Amino acid sequence: MNRDGSLQSIWQETTAPYVTANEWKSDTQYDVLIVGGGITGLTAALLLQSNGKKCVLAEGEILGFGTTGGTTAHLNTMLDTPYAKVKKDFSADDANLLANGTKEAINQIENLVNKYAIDCDFSYRSAIVYAETEEQVKALDEIHAGDDEAGVHSEQVYELEIPASFVKAYKFDGQAKLHPLKYLNGLAKAFEEAGGVILQHCLVTKVNSDNGIAAETSLGNIKADKLMYATHIPPGINLFNLRCAPYRSYVMAFTLKSGNYPTMFHYDMQEPYHYFRTHEIDGQKVVIGGGFDHKTGHNDNTTYVFTELEAYLRKLFDIDSITFKWSSQYYEPVDGLPYIGLMPGHDNIYLGTGYGGNGMVLGTLAAKMICDLLVSKNSAYEKLLSPSRLKPIAGISNFVKENIDVVSMFLGKRLDYEHITQLADLATGEAKVIKWEDHPLAVYKDEKGKIHALDPVCPHAGCIVGWNSAEKSWDCPCHGGRYDCNGKLLNGPATGGLTVIDWMHL
Ligand SMILES: Cc1cc2nc3c(=O)[nH]c(=O)nc-3n(C[C@H](O)[C@H](O)[C@H](O)COP(=O)(O)OP(=O)(O)OC[C@H]3O[C@@H](n4cnc5c(N)ncnc54)[C@H](O)[C@@H]3O)c2cc1C
Repeated sequence: MNRDGSLQSIWQETTAPYVTANEWKSDTQYDVLIVGGGITGLTAALLLQSNGKKCVLAEGEILGFGTTGGTTAHLNTMLDTPYAKVKKDFSADDANLLANGTKEAINQIENLVNKYAIDCDFSYRSAIVYAETEEQVKALDEIHAGDDEAGVHSEQVYELEIPASFVKAYKFDGQAKLHPLKYLNGLAKAFEEAGGVILQHCLVTKVNSDNGIAAETSLGNIKADKLMYATHIPPGINLFNLRCAPYRSYVMAFTLKSGNYPTMFHYDMQEPYHYFRTHEIDGQKVVIGGGFDHKTGHNDNTTYVFTELEAYLRKLFDIDSITFKWSSQYYEPVDGLPYIGLMPGHDNIYLGTGYGGNGMVLGTLAAKMICDLLVSKNSAYEKLLSPSRLKPIAGISNFVKENIDVVSMFLGKRLDYEHITQLADLATGEAKVIKWEDHPLAVYKDEKGKIHALDPVCPHAGCIVGWNSAEKSWDCPCHGGRYDCNGKLLNGPATGGLTVIDWMHL
C-alpha cells in the first residue's frame, strides 16, 4: 500500500490496503465529519460512532497514508517532553494528569484490540533509557525523578539487551507496541460494522463552518454538525503553523546474525535520541532502529542521513541484512504539549496536533478526548491541552527559535535561489530549485532523464520547497507541506499541490 514517501515502511509491505464496505450518500447529514485516516481519525471515528454519533471519515489518500504508516509504534507512558519539564512549565498536577492520559490511552488501545479482536501484535514491553556520559546521567536522573513523581515509575538496571556502552540506565514497565497498520485496519472494520462511513481518496479542500459544517471534497460536499481535523496538522494557514514545527525521523528494520533480538525497547539520551525495538512479522524478527531527526526541509542530503543511521546501527548491532528503510514526519509543539480540543475561533471544529514523537499514544488520547467533549461535553484534559492555551513562559525559547526560522524562510529564501542555468547539470534522480530565465523552478530529472518542473512556491504559505532525496518529495521547510515529483500533495497543511510548469514554453 502507499504512504507519503517513495520508501516502503515495514508496515506498508505487510498490510493490504483497506477496502471500504459501507456506501456514502452525498445528501446525508452526519453528526461528525472526521478528516484524516490515521490513528487519530480512526480511533475518534470508532469511539464516536460506538457512542451514538453518526460519523463519516474522509481520507485524502488511503487509510494509513500519513505518519501512522511510517511510525515505529512504541506506546509509551514516558514522553519526549519529560514530566519534570511539564511540572516546571505548567504544574505538578498537570504533569500527573498528562501521565494519567498516557496510561488511559494505552489502556484504550488495549481495550479496542480486545473488544474488536484486532490482530495487530499488541503486547506490553519494558523500555530502557540509558545515559552514555556523566552529563547525560544528570539529565536522565532528572527525567527519572520527574517521571516518578508523575506516577511513571522506573528502576535502575545494570544491563542492557543491546551491546551499547552506558553509564546509567532506568527500566520503565508498562510500555507497549503494535503493528500500526494492522491496528488501523481493525479500527476501520469495527467502525464500518458500527455503521460508520469511510471515504478514501476524499481530499477535504474547503470547509464552511458558519451554519453547521459544509465541507467541499474531491468526492463532493459533506454536511455535518461538527468536524474534527485528524490530519496531523490542520490544513490551511492557521495558528498551528507557528506553534508546531515539522520534523523528520529516519528508520531502518534489520535482521541480526546472532539472533539475539532485544525484548525490551531501548532509547539513548543523545540529541536527537536513537530508538530500538524488535518486531516479529510472519515468524521473522527484525530490530527497528531510528533517529537522526531534523527539521523538515533543513537537510540538503536526506539520502546521506540513512548512511549515517546505518553506520550508527552497524556499530551497535551485528546486522545481517537491512530489510526496510524509510522516514516520516512529526510535529513538535512549542511548549512540549499537544494541542487537542476546539479550534480557536470555532465552536464546531475540533483538532488534535503537536504530538511530537508520541502521536500513537497522544493521537489516541486526542480521539478519546474529542469523543468525551462531543458526547459528555467535558474531558479532564480539556484545559491543559486546549489549542487556545497561551503559555508565555513555557517553551518561549523554542517558540522564538521556530518563529525566527519560519520568518527567515518567508523573507530570505525566496530571494536566494541557487543559480543554475544548465539543466544538464542534474544527474538522473536528482532535483533542485533552479532559476530558468528568471523563473524559479523546482526541477526533478527522472530515471529516464525526463524533466519534471514545478512552481516551487508552496501553496500553503508561499515558502520555497526543498528536495528530499530519500523520499523523492518536495518538502516545505516552513510548515511541512510535502509534494511528490509531479507536484501532488503528500502531506502537511496545504490542500492542493504544486503547480506544474510547462518549462519548455516559459
Ligand atoms: C519515524 C517516526 C516514528 C514515530 N514513532 C512513534 C512511536 O514510536 N510512538 C508514538 O507514539 N509516536 C510515534 N511517532 C509519531 C506518530 O506516529 C504520529 O504522531 C501519528 O502517527 C500521527 O497520527 P495521525 O492520525 O494524527 O496523523 P497521520 O497518520 O499523519 O494521518 C493524517 C491523515 O490525514 C490525511 N489528510 C491530511 N489532510 C487531509 C485533507 N485535507 N483531507 C483529507 N485527508 C487529509 C492524510 O492523508 C493522512 O492519512 C513517530 C513519528 C515518526 C515520524
